[in-house]
Amino acid sequence: MVIKTSDDNRIFNIHTEGIPYLSFDVLDRLGVPNLFTTRYISYDAATGTGVKGLRLAVMKTESIREAGPIVKANRDILARQLGSSIEFECITDQKHTNYVHVVSKEDFGVPDPVTKPLHRRYVDGLVTDIPDVLLTAFGGDCPPVYIVDPVRKAVGLVHAGWKGTLGRIPEVAIANMVVRFGCDPKDMYAAIGPGVCKDCYEMGDEVYDMFAAQWSKKEADRLFSRYPAYDANGRRIYGGKYHLDLREANRMTLIRAGVPEDRITVSNVCTKCNVDTFYSYRAKRMENEQVAMLINRFDVR
Ligand SMILES: [Zn+2]
Repeated sequence: MVIKTSDDNRIFNIHTEGIPYLSFDVLDRLGVPNLFTTRYISYDAATGTGVKGLRLAVMKTESIREAGPIVKANRDILARQLGSSIEFECITDQKHTNYVHVVSKEDFGVPDPVTKPLHRRYVDGLVTDIPDVLLTAFGGDCPPVYIVDPVRKAVGLVHAGWKGTLGRIPEVAIANMVVRFGCDPKDMYAAIGPGVCKDCYEMGDEVYDMFAAQWSKKEADRLFSRYPAYDANGRRIYGGKYHLDLREANRMTLIRAGVPEDRITVSNVCTKCNVDTFYSYRAKRMENEQVAMLINRFDVR
């Protein structure tokens, strides 16, 4: 599994036994089970080859009845690799909102977790202080943001595409953790998972305008840059197009929410730059999606 990163930082640990995945080293050291998957079903580290086509989500074009059992079985294998099972899993319908749901006992342990998003309409983030609950988010360029409070023993996981990022969904999750669980953001760690990089993330002018209006022009100017761009006929577009730095936007939001800057880890892995390893919507490789998983468990080794 060859993953190009912008530097040699050991942000991730790579696991190749069973279904391969990455985990954040900083969360591993806190004893919090966490993962981010790839396109690989299996990978042989000795030969550097693997089998691709891992299916973890029911795509829009598929029926839940046909695809559901396959993705459910695969997610259960993954959950078991982390020391859990799909019976503890909570997922959302991910509609690019900034709504965050506080997990209750009714949200997991139901007979068919694959259909659960139908009951959680227009939610893109989950937080919980219930021990051993497994939070799952899906993404094919939109980075997940993992939030962990080892003092109060609570976690959050959000899906942060540009709309959720504009709505500061990590801050919404943290606000819920503060109000509902009594967490202090100063105790928290946060990790921004693999997703599309700024070089790969062209946006329309209206997205810049929304950030300038809802955040500030100064912040929008920090997050957006004009890049050369071409129309469908290959002609250069005068003035180029905006590109958005989603990672930096979410990092700024986490700092604003009170997470100490030195406790925020930012992935340097782009799903589109690494289209051989990851599913990427922007690279039109969307046979499926990656999943992020995070368990509310603190196994200090
Ligand atoms: Zn990229």
